[in-house]
Amino acid sequence: MMVIKVGGGKGISIEAVCQDVADLVKRGERLIFVHGGSHETNELSTALGKPPRFVTSVSGVESRYTDRETLEIFNMVYVGKMNKRYVERLQQLGVNAVGLCGADGRSMVGERKAAIKVVENGKRKVLRNDFTGRVEQINTELLNLLLDHGYTPVLCPPAISYENEIINVDGDRMAGALAAAFEAETLVILSNVPGLLQDVDDPDSLVASIDKTRLSSFFDMAQGRMKKKVMGASEALHQGVGTVILGDARLDHPIQLALEGRGTVIR
Ligand code: ADP
Repeated sequence: MMVIKVGGGKGISIEAVCQDVADLVKRGERLIFVHGGSHETNELSTALGKPPRFVTSVSGVESRYTDRETLEIFNMVYVGKMNKRYVERLQQLGVNAVGLCGADGRSMVGERKAAIKVVENGKRKVLRNDFTGRVEQINTELLNLLLDHGYTPVLCPPAISYENEIINVDGDRMAGALAAAFEAETLVILSNVPGLLQDVDDPDSLVASIDKTRLSSFFDMAQGRMKKKVMGASEALHQGVGTVILGDARLDHPIQLALEGRGTVIR
């Protein structure tokens, strides 16, 4: 069992990712595909006159402040645009892809965090009316039903809360939760960098491998959105996932190369 997550950053090759997914599915690999859409969400938000607002929690983790209007823009991009783009391309490649967000069939459930404590301009404040949370429960029954019948789940945020509100969740941690729930051997997280870099401005400073017992010492190296990938990796590994690979989605054969060890291999 394998979970593959591709980010929504600038420069990733949707085509190359879909080709590799199709090859794996045709070889009989049982896999769940997860995608993001952050860059396009920023662009649409800005075009609609509601530029994204990123906030940093007291513990130093950045996230998108998601009021109801932002949530609707988020749905337009993740569910409306990106999810169907992946489903379309995978269908063209002969994969019977089924696109779902976490609200569909309660496939991914988490607790809503309506109020978040953030630091803005050096000041602490509480932001309310946030529709965000973190995936805690996976409906493995529904997803196994699909997998058992030859369908490939194409999943994306948002998820749903216990009170049935749609919530924005982080895609990397969602992929980590999925990999853990399915006891996947491998979780591949692809983005627009070669992997975890010692210096984000130096693509040659790749950390090639990390022993999972030492992963927490790499939290500070990862900034911005890379932090979420390290968190997702850590959560998956501590719940029994064998290997997490942070790979590069800008390459030809990005998944194949990641599985061959190109990127940051954490085990
Ligand atoms: P997603 O793929 O989920 O959409 P991003 O592509 O935004 O997320 O996340 C990867 C980004 O993390 C990179 O583009 C890079 O700018 C940033 N980053 C911060 N610190 C690091 C690091 N140490 N190594 C690699 N990338 C890093």
